[in-house]
Amino acid sequence: VVIGADAAGMTAATQARRRRGPDDLEIVAFEKGQHVSYSACGIPYVVAGDVDGLERLVVRTPEEFQSKNQIDVRTGQEVTEIDLERRAVHVNGTWEPFDQLMVGTGAVPIRPDLPGAQSVGIYGVQTLDDGAALLAELERKPQRAVVVGGGYIGLEMAEAMVKRGIEVALVERGPQPMATLDPDMGALVADAMRGLGVDVRTNEAVVGFEADDGRVRAVATEHGTLPVDLVVLGIGVRPNVALAERAGIPLGPSGGIAVDRRQRTEVPGVWAGGDCCESFHRVSRRPVVIALGTHANKHGRVAGINIGGGYAAFGGVVGTAVSKVCDYEVARTGLGEREAERAGFEAVTATVESTTRAGYFPGTKQLTVKVLAERRSGRLLGAQIVGREGAAKRIDVFATALWNNMTVDDALGMDLSYAPPFAPLWDPVLIAARKAWDAVEAGPVS
Ligand SMILES: Cc1cc2nc3c(=O)[nH]c(=O)nc-3n(C[C@H](O)[C@H](O)[C@H](O)COP(=O)(O)OP(=O)(O)OC[C@H]3O[C@@H](n4cnc5c(N)ncnc54)[C@H](O)[C@@H]3O)c2cc1C
Repeated sequence: VVIGADAAGMTAATQARRRRGPDDLEIVAFEKGQHVSYSACGIPYVVAGDVDGLERLVVRTPEEFQSKNQIDVRTGQEVTEIDLERRAVHVNGTWEPFDQLMVGTGAVPIRPDLPGAQSVGIYGVQTLDDGAALLAELERKPQRAVVVGGGYIGLEMAEAMVKRGIEVALVERGPQPMATLDPDMGALVADAMRGLGVDVRTNEAVVGFEADDGRVRAVATEHGTLPVDLVVLGIGVRPNVALAERAGIPLGPSGGIAVDRRQRTEVPGVWAGGDCCESFHRVSRRPVVIALGTHANKHGRVAGINIGGGYAAFGGVVGTAVSKVCDYEVARTGLGEREAERAGFEAVTATVESTTRAGYFPGTKQLTVKVLAERRSGRLLGAQIVGREGAAKRIDVFATALWNNMTVDDALGMDLSYAPPFAPLWDPVLIAARKAWDAVEAGPVS
């Protein structure tokens, strides 16, 4: 039995099926929403009008799972209880027995515990059903919207709504949006948002929502009241673990379901993957919950292979993420300054400005690269990139270096490619690593 029929759940189901045929293993997936196997990542682009219709985001329908994989996917069916003694899940008034259970319940958008937060017109964006509700809301021709919180989904949604001609304010409690970046890099993102016409309000906390007849009409902040027709929550997500927790499936210290490297929970025959569970962070050496499709699909693959009788292990994460905000590409991997400190590292940093192509080559764009390395050892700890087209995917070089525990000394000598249409002679990755090496040599600035 699979609970939650999206990235983690359905990848596990299909991988298990590849190893065990329908006569050997019956697979039933329960999905409380109306869609399965979809790319939630595409929702902001549908809202923006860049992608034509939510149905384009559906990778495989329940009918296709049935005909191609002999997997019985049941939509509109919420699992309300897991009974580990009985080894059954409660759904639609009946108990469905299982031998193996895959929990892939995802994450839920954090809803602030503030007056009026349950009003109509306040949206978290997580599932395709949320996307459909938001599109229906756009039919009402909203004029003004507020995005609460500057997480990457909030920023993508802000941009999408601007493209729809809506006046957007972004209210962020912290010093800069995009708290997964260090504030100096987040400031570049804030500038890009302002350039798009978004009213970016930082160091300003939302204190409540005012409603008329149950529908949100204004957002109250520490500094004033913003009239709105629509609110989008962008303060992040938390793992959706209530069902598992009630059943007694142990959680880890970061609040996600605790799993081992084979995606096994502590309960025999119960597996978990995706946004609802923890991953091991290879740099901080700690369990973390990082809600990304990249991890969910890999967790699902590992769980499914193991459920099917094979052997697979998940190698962990290094915290790599990329997104696009206006014309800017934003990427990060490893640890930021605060995270490095919390993990017990003393870090030095280096920030460089460079270009995506040779300086003279048509279409070359600016980018800023920041690198963190451990003082004295020079071990790479993290990197962040903000720049225009051609900037962001360079983060994958840093991610690979982090994955392999490289130092800045190793990194600055890497044999990276060069020709004028692709990079300056010294790729920005190498320039940043060189400067980080200088910083390691010099030690901390007193
Ligand atoms: C707007 C947006 C943009 C994103 N962009 C990116 C991106 O660019 N890159 C990236 O890597 N990731 C991105 N993500 C994150 C990515 O979509 C998720 O990490 C991924 O979908 C997680 O997969 P999952 O299977 O763990 O959970 P989900 O995709 O959330 O699926 C869980 C499913 O479980 C169902 N469910 C929950 N409880 C029950 C129950 N009790 N009974 C039955 N069904 C249940 C839910 O309805 C849901 O369909 C984005 C997410 C959003 C929302």
